[in-house]
Amino acid sequence: MGLPGHRRTSSDKRKRSAHFNLVTPNSNLCPKCGKASLPHRACAFCGTYKGKQVLKVDKRSARATRAAKKKK
Ligand SMILES: [Zn+2]
Repeated sequence: MGLPGHRRTSSDKRKRSAHFNLVTPNSNLCPKCGKASLPHRACAFCGTYKGKQVLKVDKRSARATRAAKKKK
């Protein structure tokens, strides 16, 4: 059975937990629609990447607008 070799001091605990913070993901503005989108990924709203249409977003955008209407 494995047992801890040494007691974890409060200092050890605090040093480890210093890295537990949440990090907000970077976001760029889409050059086409101007909405925030993740870098190196197609825009979730208009489906373009590097100026090219790479995703079909008709249904998705319709769903998004429906959800937005429900919220109001
Ligand atoms: Zn876009």
